[in-house]
Amino acid sequence: MMNSPKYSIVAPVYNESESLPEFYRRISEVIGRLDGDVELILVDDGSSDGSLALMRDLQARDSSVRVLSFSRNFGHQVAITAGIDFARGDAVVVTDADLQDPPEVIPDLVAEWKLGAQIVLAVRSGRTGESWFKRVTAALFYRLIDRLTDLQIPKDSGDFRLMDRKVVDALCKVREHHRFMRGLSVWVGFKRTEVQYVRQARFAGRSKYPLRSMLRFATDGITSFSHVPLQLAMTLGFVFAGIAILGVPAIVALRFSGGREFFGQATTLVSVLLLGGVQLICLGIVGEYLGRIYNEVKRRPLYLISGKWGFEADQDD
Ligand code: UDP
Ligand code: MG
Repeated sequence: MMNSPKYSIVAPVYNESESLPEFYRRISEVIGRLDGDVELILVDDGSSDGSLALMRDLQARDSSVRVLSFSRNFGHQVAITAGIDFARGDAVVVTDADLQDPPEVIPDLVAEWKLGAQIVLAVRSGRTGESWFKRVTAALFYRLIDRLTDLQIPKDSGDFRLMDRKVVDALCKVREHHRFMRGLSVWVGFKRTEVQYVRQARFAGRSKYPLRSMLRFATDGITSFSHVPLQLAMTLGFVFAGIAILGVPAIVALRFSGGREFFGQATTLVSVLLLGGVQLICLGIVGEYLGRIYNEVKRRPLYLISGKWGFEADQDD
Protein backbone atom coordinates (compact mmCIF):
# COMPACT_ATOMS: atom_id res chain seq x y z
CA MET A 1 0.00 0.00 0.00
CA MET A 2 1.15 3.49 -0.85
CA ASN A 3 1.71 5.87 1.99
CA SER A 4 -1.24 8.17 2.33
CA PRO A 5 -0.50 11.63 1.06
CA LYS A 6 -0.18 14.59 3.33
CA TYR A 7 -2.60 16.73 1.38
CA SER A 8 -5.70 15.98 -0.68
CA ILE A 9 -7.18 18.58 -2.96
CA VAL A 10 -10.78 17.91 -3.98
CA ALA A 11 -12.37 19.66 -6.94
CA PRO A 12 -15.91 19.00 -8.22
CA VAL A 13 -16.14 19.29 -11.98
CA TYR A 14 -19.26 19.73 -14.05
CA ASN A 15 -18.71 20.65 -17.67
CA GLU A 16 -15.50 22.57 -17.07
CA SER A 17 -13.55 21.44 -20.13
CA GLU A 18 -12.60 25.04 -20.91
CA SER A 19 -11.23 25.73 -17.42
CA LEU A 20 -9.66 22.37 -16.62
CA PRO A 21 -6.30 22.72 -18.40
CA GLU A 22 -5.67 26.13 -16.81
CA PHE A 23 -6.94 24.89 -13.45
CA TYR A 24 -4.54 21.97 -13.61
CA ARG A 25 -1.65 24.21 -14.62
CA ARG A 26 -2.19 26.63 -11.77
CA ILE A 27 -2.95 24.03 -9.13
CA SER A 28 0.11 21.98 -10.12
CA GLU A 29 2.28 25.02 -9.59
CA VAL A 30 0.88 25.39 -6.09
CA ILE A 31 1.14 21.66 -5.38
CA GLY A 32 4.83 21.84 -6.24
CA ARG A 33 5.28 24.38 -3.45
CA LEU A 34 3.59 22.30 -0.73
CA ASP A 35 5.77 20.37 1.70
CA GLY A 36 4.57 16.82 1.18
CA ASP A 37 2.76 14.39 -1.06
CA VAL A 38 -0.39 15.74 -2.61
CA GLU A 39 -3.25 13.93 -4.31
CA LEU A 40 -5.58 15.87 -6.57
CA ILE A 41 -9.05 14.31 -6.63
CA LEU A 42 -11.18 15.45 -9.53
CA VAL A 43 -14.83 14.47 -9.23
CA ASP A 44 -16.69 14.40 -12.51
CA ASP A 45 -20.29 15.19 -11.68
CA GLY A 46 -21.76 13.67 -14.83
CA SER A 47 -20.19 16.12 -17.29
CA SER A 48 -21.29 15.92 -20.89
CA ASP A 49 -18.68 18.17 -22.49
CA GLY A 50 -15.60 15.96 -22.57
CA SER A 51 -14.37 17.03 -19.12
CA LEU A 52 -14.01 13.38 -18.12
CA ALA A 53 -11.73 12.61 -21.08
CA LEU A 54 -9.55 15.60 -20.14
CA MET A 55 -9.41 14.47 -16.53
CA ARG A 56 -8.47 10.93 -17.46
CA ASP A 57 -5.80 12.31 -19.69
CA LEU A 58 -4.33 14.31 -16.79
CA GLN A 59 -4.54 11.21 -14.62
CA ALA A 60 -2.68 9.11 -17.17
CA ARG A 61 0.17 11.61 -17.20
CA ASP A 62 0.29 12.52 -13.51
CA SER A 63 0.17 9.81 -10.86
CA SER A 64 -0.98 12.22 -8.17
CA VAL A 65 -4.24 12.84 -10.00
CA ARG A 66 -7.25 10.69 -9.14
CA VAL A 67 -10.51 10.77 -11.02
CA LEU A 68 -13.95 9.80 -9.81
CA SER A 69 -16.80 9.75 -12.25
CA PHE A 70 -20.45 9.83 -11.29
CA SER A 71 -23.05 7.89 -13.23
CA ARG A 72 -24.96 11.15 -13.71
CA ASN A 73 -25.12 14.68 -12.33
CA PHE A 74 -25.63 14.50 -8.57
CA GLY A 75 -24.87 18.11 -7.76
CA HIS A 76 -22.03 20.20 -6.45
CA GLN A 77 -22.47 19.38 -2.75
CA VAL A 78 -22.62 15.65 -3.38
CA ALA A 79 -19.55 15.83 -5.64
CA ILE A 80 -17.63 17.48 -2.82
CA THR A 81 -18.85 14.75 -0.46
CA ALA A 82 -17.58 11.98 -2.73
CA GLY A 83 -14.20 13.67 -3.07
CA ILE A 84 -13.91 13.95 0.69
CA ASP A 85 -15.01 10.32 1.13
CA PHE A 86 -12.12 9.18 -1.05
CA ALA A 87 -9.51 11.64 0.19
CA ARG A 88 -6.68 10.16 2.22
CA GLY A 89 -4.71 13.24 3.14
CA ASP A 90 -4.01 14.55 6.63
CA ALA A 91 -5.46 17.80 5.39
CA VAL A 92 -8.13 18.06 2.71
CA VAL A 93 -8.69 21.17 0.62
CA VAL A 94 -11.97 21.68 -1.24
CA THR A 95 -11.90 24.06 -4.18
CA ASP A 96 -14.02 24.81 -7.24
CA ALA A 97 -12.54 23.89 -10.58
CA ASP A 98 -13.46 27.13 -12.36
CA LEU A 99 -10.60 29.12 -10.80
CA GLN A 100 -12.97 31.36 -8.84
CA ASP A 101 -11.09 30.04 -5.82
CA PRO A 102 -7.50 30.99 -6.68
CA PRO A 103 -5.20 27.99 -6.01
CA GLU A 104 -2.52 30.40 -4.83
CA VAL A 105 -4.50 30.81 -1.58
CA ILE A 106 -3.97 27.14 -0.65
CA PRO A 107 -0.53 27.70 0.95
CA ASP A 108 -2.14 30.32 3.22
CA LEU A 109 -4.75 27.76 4.28
CA VAL A 110 -2.00 25.23 4.93
CA ALA A 111 -0.05 27.75 7.01
CA GLU A 112 -3.06 28.22 9.33
CA TRP A 113 -3.52 24.45 9.58
CA LYS A 114 0.09 24.12 10.69
CA LEU A 115 -0.58 26.69 13.37
CA GLY A 116 -3.22 24.36 14.78
CA ALA A 117 -6.50 25.25 13.07
CA GLN A 118 -8.62 22.25 12.10
CA ILE A 119 -10.88 24.07 9.67
CA VAL A 120 -9.49 26.94 7.65
CA LEU A 121 -12.20 28.80 5.77
CA ALA A 122 -11.34 30.91 2.79
CA VAL A 123 -13.51 33.99 3.18
CA ARG A 124 -14.19 36.37 0.32
CA SER A 125 -12.96 39.83 1.09
CA GLY A 126 -14.07 40.88 -2.34
CA ARG A 127 -16.10 39.42 -5.12
CA THR A 128 -14.64 41.05 -8.18
CA GLY A 129 -15.72 38.28 -10.43
CA GLU A 130 -19.41 38.18 -9.64
CA SER A 131 -22.55 39.88 -10.83
CA TRP A 132 -24.46 42.27 -8.57
CA PHE A 133 -27.33 39.78 -8.62
CA LYS A 134 -25.17 37.02 -7.17
CA ARG A 135 -23.72 39.37 -4.58
CA VAL A 136 -27.10 40.70 -3.44
CA THR A 137 -28.77 37.29 -3.27
CA ALA A 138 -25.75 35.82 -1.46
CA ALA A 139 -25.80 38.65 1.10
CA LEU A 140 -29.54 38.15 1.68
CA PHE A 141 -29.12 34.41 1.98
CA TYR A 142 -26.34 34.59 4.56
CA ARG A 143 -28.34 37.11 6.57
CA LEU A 144 -31.42 34.89 6.47
CA ILE A 145 -29.59 31.74 7.48
CA ASP A 146 -27.93 33.64 10.28
CA ARG A 147 -31.33 34.70 11.64
CA LEU A 148 -33.03 31.35 11.20
CA THR A 149 -30.38 28.94 12.45
CA ASP A 150 -28.06 28.59 15.41
CA LEU A 151 -25.13 28.09 13.09
CA GLN A 152 -22.57 30.82 12.84
CA ILE A 153 -21.69 30.38 9.20
CA PRO A 154 -19.18 33.07 8.40
CA LYS A 155 -20.63 35.42 5.82
CA ASP A 156 -19.01 35.18 2.44
CA SER A 157 -17.49 31.79 2.96
CA GLY A 158 -18.08 29.32 0.19
CA ASP A 159 -16.94 25.75 -0.04
CA PHE A 160 -13.30 26.74 -0.46
CA ARG A 161 -11.63 25.48 2.71
CA LEU A 162 -9.07 23.22 4.30
CA MET A 163 -10.12 20.55 6.76
CA ASP A 164 -8.05 18.45 9.08
CA ARG A 165 -8.37 14.65 8.91
CA LYS A 166 -10.42 14.70 12.14
CA VAL A 167 -12.95 17.06 10.61
CA VAL A 168 -13.13 15.04 7.42
CA ASP A 169 -13.74 11.82 9.35
CA ALA A 170 -16.52 13.54 11.26
CA LEU A 171 -18.08 14.91 8.06
CA CYS A 172 -17.93 11.51 6.39
CA LYS A 173 -20.26 10.19 9.06
CA VAL A 174 -22.94 12.68 8.07
CA ARG A 175 -24.88 11.04 5.26
CA GLU A 176 -27.90 13.29 4.86
CA HIS A 177 -29.12 13.77 1.31
CA HIS A 178 -29.92 17.45 1.25
CA ARG A 179 -26.42 18.44 2.07
CA PHE A 180 -25.36 21.93 2.82
CA MET A 181 -21.65 21.36 3.23
CA ARG A 182 -20.68 24.80 4.47
CA GLY A 183 -23.28 24.48 7.24
CA LEU A 184 -22.25 20.92 8.08
CA SER A 185 -18.61 21.83 8.37
CA VAL A 186 -19.56 24.44 10.95
CA TRP A 187 -21.99 22.05 12.66
CA VAL A 188 -19.23 19.47 13.33
CA GLY A 189 -17.36 22.00 15.45
CA PHE A 190 -13.56 21.86 15.81
CA LYS A 191 -11.09 24.70 15.84
CA ARG A 192 -11.81 27.11 13.04
CA THR A 193 -10.10 30.07 11.53
CA GLU A 194 -10.38 32.20 8.41
CA VAL A 195 -8.18 33.42 5.63
CA GLN A 196 -9.23 36.27 3.37
CA TYR A 197 -9.12 36.10 -0.38
CA VAL A 198 -10.58 37.88 -3.35
CA ARG A 199 -13.04 35.77 -5.31
CA GLN A 200 -12.10 35.78 -8.95
CA ALA A 201 -14.19 35.70 -12.07
CA ARG A 202 -14.89 32.34 -13.61
CA PHE A 203 -11.99 31.40 -15.93
CA ALA A 204 -14.30 30.23 -18.69
CA GLY A 205 -17.83 29.06 -19.29
CA ARG A 206 -20.92 29.92 -17.30
CA SER A 207 -22.05 29.26 -13.75
CA LYS A 208 -23.53 25.80 -13.33
CA TYR A 209 -25.92 27.22 -10.75
CA PRO A 210 -29.00 28.56 -12.50
CA LEU A 211 -31.53 30.42 -10.37
CA ARG A 212 -33.50 27.23 -9.75
CA SER A 213 -30.46 25.41 -8.35
CA MET A 214 -29.58 28.44 -6.26
CA LEU A 215 -33.05 28.44 -4.72
CA ARG A 216 -32.87 24.73 -4.01
CA PHE A 217 -29.44 25.17 -2.49
CA ALA A 218 -30.78 27.98 -0.28
CA THR A 219 -33.83 26.00 0.89
CA ASP A 220 -31.60 22.98 1.58
CA GLY A 221 -29.38 25.19 3.69
CA ILE A 222 -32.27 26.60 5.69
CA THR A 223 -34.33 23.42 6.10
CA SER A 224 -31.32 21.33 7.16
CA PHE A 225 -30.55 23.59 10.05
CA SER A 226 -33.76 25.31 11.09
CA HIS A 227 -37.36 24.57 12.06
CA VAL A 228 -38.27 28.21 12.22
CA PRO A 229 -40.16 28.21 8.90
CA LEU A 230 -42.36 25.41 10.24
CA GLN A 231 -43.28 27.55 13.21
CA LEU A 232 -44.26 30.37 10.89
CA ALA A 233 -47.74 28.88 10.48
CA MET A 234 -48.37 29.15 14.18
CA THR A 235 -47.14 32.73 14.40
CA LEU A 236 -49.30 33.75 11.46
CA GLY A 237 -52.25 31.84 12.96
CA PHE A 238 -51.94 33.86 16.15
CA VAL A 239 -51.65 37.10 14.21
CA PHE A 240 -54.82 36.45 12.21
CA ALA A 241 -56.70 35.06 15.22
CA GLY A 242 -55.70 38.24 17.06
CA ILE A 243 -57.07 40.39 14.26
CA ALA A 244 -60.32 38.41 14.32
CA ILE A 245 -60.70 38.70 18.07
CA LEU A 246 -60.22 42.45 17.90
CA GLY A 247 -62.47 42.62 14.88
CA VAL A 248 -65.53 41.04 16.50
CA PRO A 249 -66.14 43.71 19.18
CA ALA A 250 -65.28 46.39 16.65
CA ILE A 251 -67.97 45.15 14.28
CA VAL A 252 -70.50 44.76 17.10
CA ALA A 253 -69.78 48.32 18.22
CA LEU A 254 -70.13 49.59 14.65
CA ARG A 255 -73.46 47.80 14.30
CA PHE A 256 -74.93 49.36 17.44
CA SER A 257 -73.67 52.80 16.61
CA GLY A 258 -75.56 52.56 13.34
CA GLY A 259 -72.40 52.44 11.17
CA ARG A 260 -71.95 50.30 8.09
CA GLU A 261 -71.20 46.88 9.49
CA PHE A 262 -70.27 45.35 6.11
CA PHE A 263 -67.56 46.81 3.97
CA GLY A 264 -68.74 45.02 0.89
CA GLN A 265 -67.62 42.19 -1.36
CA ALA A 266 -64.19 43.54 -2.12
CA THR A 267 -63.14 43.40 1.54
CA THR A 268 -64.41 39.85 1.88
CA LEU A 269 -62.71 38.78 -1.32
CA VAL A 270 -59.38 40.30 -0.36
CA SER A 271 -59.38 38.79 3.11
CA VAL A 272 -60.34 35.35 1.78
CA LEU A 273 -57.57 35.52 -0.81
CA LEU A 274 -55.07 36.76 1.74
CA LEU A 275 -55.82 33.98 4.17
CA GLY A 276 -55.98 31.38 1.41
CA GLY A 277 -52.57 32.52 0.19
CA VAL A 278 -51.06 32.44 3.64
CA GLN A 279 -52.44 28.96 4.23
CA LEU A 280 -51.07 27.65 0.96
CA ILE A 281 -47.67 29.12 1.68
CA CYS A 282 -47.63 27.43 5.07
CA LEU A 283 -48.70 24.18 3.48
CA GLY A 284 -45.89 24.58 0.94
CA ILE A 285 -43.37 25.05 3.72
CA VAL A 286 -44.60 21.86 5.38
CA GLY A 287 -44.30 20.21 1.96
CA GLU A 288 -40.67 21.30 1.63
CA TYR A 289 -39.83 19.57 4.88
CA LEU A 290 -41.98 16.56 4.12
CA GLY A 291 -40.33 16.02 0.75
CA ARG A 292 -36.93 16.17 2.35
CA ILE A 293 -37.97 13.70 5.04
CA TYR A 294 -39.22 11.42 2.25
CA ASN A 295 -35.89 11.65 0.45
CA GLU A 296 -34.00 10.83 3.62
CA VAL A 297 -36.07 7.79 4.57
CA LYS A 298 -35.61 6.24 1.14
CA ARG A 299 -31.96 5.79 2.08
CA ARG A 300 -30.72 5.74 -1.46
CA PRO A 301 -26.98 6.04 -1.89
CA LEU A 302 -25.78 9.64 -2.05
CA TYR A 303 -24.05 9.07 -5.38
CA LEU A 304 -23.24 6.29 -7.82
CA ILE A 305 -19.79 5.95 -9.31
CA SER A 306 -19.37 4.76 -12.85
CA GLY A 307 -15.60 4.81 -12.89
CA LYS A 308 -12.55 5.68 -10.85
CA TRP A 309 -8.95 6.02 -11.88
CA GLY A 310 -5.74 6.49 -9.93
CA PHE A 311 -7.05 5.19 -6.62
CA GLU A 312 -5.67 2.21 -4.78
CA ALA A 313 -7.42 -1.10 -5.25
CA ASP A 314 -8.66 -1.26 -1.68
CA GLN A 315 -10.41 2.07 -1.90
CA ASP A 316 -13.95 1.40 -2.80
CA ASP A 317 -16.10 3.02 -0.21
N1 UDP B 1 -20.39 21.80 -10.07
C1 UDP B 1 -20.64 20.44 -9.92
N2 UDP B 1 -21.92 19.96 -10.10
C2 UDP B 1 -22.96 20.79 -10.41
C3 UDP B 1 -22.70 22.19 -10.53
C4 UDP B 1 -21.42 22.65 -10.34
O1 UDP B 1 -19.72 19.67 -9.64
O2 UDP B 1 -24.08 20.30 -10.57
C5 UDP B 1 -19.01 22.30 -9.88
C6 UDP B 1 -18.51 23.24 -10.95
O3 UDP B 1 -17.89 22.53 -12.00
C7 UDP B 1 -17.53 24.10 -10.19
C8 UDP B 1 -18.14 24.17 -8.80
O4 UDP B 1 -19.01 23.05 -8.70
O5 UDP B 1 -16.25 23.51 -10.10
C9 UDP B 1 -18.91 25.45 -8.56
O6 UDP B 1 -19.91 25.62 -9.54
P1 UDP B 1 -20.18 27.01 -10.26
O7 UDP B 1 -18.89 27.68 -10.54
O8 UDP B 1 -21.06 26.76 -11.43
O9 UDP B 1 -20.96 27.79 -9.13
P2 UDP B 1 -20.81 29.34 -8.77
O10 UDP B 1 -19.35 29.58 -8.57
O11 UDP B 1 -21.36 30.09 -9.93
O12 UDP B 1 -21.60 29.49 -7.52
MG1 MG C 1 -17.91 29.20 -9.86
